[in-house]
Amino acid sequence: MNSKSINLTILAFTIPLYYLGCSMGSTVGSTENFKVRADRFADIEILRYQVPEFEKLSLRQKKFVYYLSEAALSGRDILYDQNYKHNLTIRQSIHSIVEGYKGDKNTKSWKQFIAYAKRIWFSNGIHHHYSTLKIIPEFNKSYLVELINNTNGKFPLKDGESTDEFIEWLTPILFDPEIDGKRVNLDPEVDIISTSANNYYDGISQDEVDMFYSNMKAPNDPTPIWYGLNSRLTKNNGKVVEKVWKSGGLYGDAIDQIVRCLEKAKEVAENDSQTNELEILIDYYRTGDLRTWDTYNMAWVKNTEIDIDYINGFIEVYGDPKGIKASYESVVEINDFEATARMKTLSANGQWFEDNAPIMDSHKRDKVQGITYNVVSVAMLGGDVSPSSPIGINLPNSNWIRSNFGSKSVSLGNITAAYDKARSGGFLDEFAYTDKEKERSKKHGSFAGKMHTAMHEVLGHASGKLEEGVGTPKETLKNYASTIEEGRADLFGLYYIMDPKLIEMGLVDSDEVGKAEYDGYIRNGLMLQLRRIQPGEKIEQSHMRNRAYISHWAFEQGRPDNIIEKKISDGKTYFVINDYEALQKIFGELLREIQRIKSQGDYEAAKQLVEKYGVNVEQGIHEEVLERSKALNIPPYAGFMNPHYKPVTDENEAITDIMITYPDNFLEQMLYYDEHYAFLPLENN
Ligand SMILES: [Zn+2]
Repeated sequence: MNSKSINLTILAFTIPLYYLGCSMGSTVGSTENFKVRADRFADIEILRYQVPEFEKLSLRQKKFVYYLSEAALSGRDILYDQNYKHNLTIRQSIHSIVEGYKGDKNTKSWKQFIAYAKRIWFSNGIHHHYSTLKIIPEFNKSYLVELINNTNGKFPLKDGESTDEFIEWLTPILFDPEIDGKRVNLDPEVDIISTSANNYYDGISQDEVDMFYSNMKAPNDPTPIWYGLNSRLTKNNGKVVEKVWKSGGLYGDAIDQIVRCLEKAKEVAENDSQTNELEILIDYYRTGDLRTWDTYNMAWVKNTEIDIDYINGFIEVYGDPKGIKASYESVVEINDFEATARMKTLSANGQWFEDNAPIMDSHKRDKVQGITYNVVSVAMLGGDVSPSSPIGINLPNSNWIRSNFGSKSVSLGNITAAYDKARSGGFLDEFAYTDKEKERSKKHGSFAGKMHTAMHEVLGHASGKLEEGVGTPKETLKNYASTIEEGRADLFGLYYIMDPKLIEMGLVDSDEVGKAEYDGYIRNGLMLQLRRIQPGEKIEQSHMRNRAYISHWAFEQGRPDNIIEKKISDGKTYFVINDYEALQKIFGELLREIQRIKSQGDYEAAKQLVEKYGVNVEQGIHEEVLERSKALNIPPYAGFMNPHYKPVTDENEAITDIMITYPDNFLEQMLYYDEHYAFLPLENN
């Protein structure tokens, strides 16, 4: 453990020398020129996200983001150790080699080693972040010996251990797929606890876990705590015991560092209830008391009148095959002010959209209440959402808190935008027919997508009413309820995104936005989305179904007037929209029909529509899409580098500003994190 003694003051006021050597990337520039792609290796692409909102914050708010970000990063070691007991030792060995290897760095083996190192950092350990299978190096065992013997630097040898003995110990751990081969084993035929390589249980069988926690639960407790959430289950003299993750307990050194950062954050929180909420979180980290964790979640859920929010704690339970124990995770979020303003404008005009919708008057709502939906910009990702990040998060996990006190659901706007930008380029060039369409999509596509999503969520789902005496869609439309509802909300947005009213309201500056959305929607619904399913499969997922039936229905309706044209060029298929206004009318007609289906609970019509247009896949097109997508060689997984926050201080060492920069070298960011956020011993027992 190399930096246990670093306290927040040092972190805040020193410019780490190491970092001066890094390529820092540019500071905030225009969004269009921002380079999203940073690195590529194995099945992974590393992207960067931008935080334009940061510049709009007050100094106090910037400090708040900074301290929360430091807290987020301070738990990094915990996740490595939770994932596998030898991960920290392995990470340190890899780190030493990357920095200190003196041999030839132009060989294939070295490149394989670097790719391996990046994969370990990406997965927070030696098991693949998604499949959870051990990542086996491509270089051979003898090269590992060569690396270790030719490295200037320390290896984590145990007392009296020779380098040769260390290599002998390490080799099978890295290379043998039979030893701790899977981090999370869900195979019902075996003991899922003892065969999983994670570090949540030590020497414990599945039966012992079941016994231990079922004895703990109080029957009929309406507000049960999440037993076992924050501890490792192990044995002491043959007796099963919990080692709780808290100050003074397991992972105490890293937790103390998180607490120090949270204490700083608390001083610049946005309001009293946020200060209070942070105090409860700190108390929880100090005591490990799960009742306090529940109290904290109730306070956190209620606190919505803020610009900056965060997630910090033991959150995700996917890493435990029993779903009991939670991995460390943290996100720092800034309200996306533009998106929020868009939502407000749409919400405020909700009644106008409803009154002018192309649906039957008897299906219109007299009083529309817009749905709230939060878009945030991520300012920092830590623990189990880093580098691999979701695009939305809904918490807390506890069901009784959700139903009694509510939950917070956020869409991570800048993460989604970065994914879109990285993914769209190649597909766009391959599947769009004209240069004009490509240009339009590059210029307006991302914004058009956001606009459509906002209309879908705020207006679409809030629109329309059932006829009297008709049951809920779940009762009447049954298995088609969700794809009908999603299609209805999509169509509401599609219909209005071409409406001049949006220009009048100042939400878009031209009809190019609507056209870009139409191009993208049709391209996706008729072709592109088919890349997500395997040959021979039908479309099952309800969003995919609704995009398919909307696009296919519109294509067929417009066929007599050639509104959407199928073109074949060089053996490749394209769909081109010839008349956008006519397509808008078609979307309006389908919206009217789908609203009727919902309002009247017309199961047969729902079934007809979905089964005819939304389920089956035309095999020729499917094969073509798979082939053309494969040729683009876009990796299946992506993750993110974080921005870097650096305090600027005056002669009295008071913080006068926080600078944000966007590093663009993944490997260097990982080395930097290893050095500055390592707060745990290599072995934690
Ligand atoms: Zn929806």
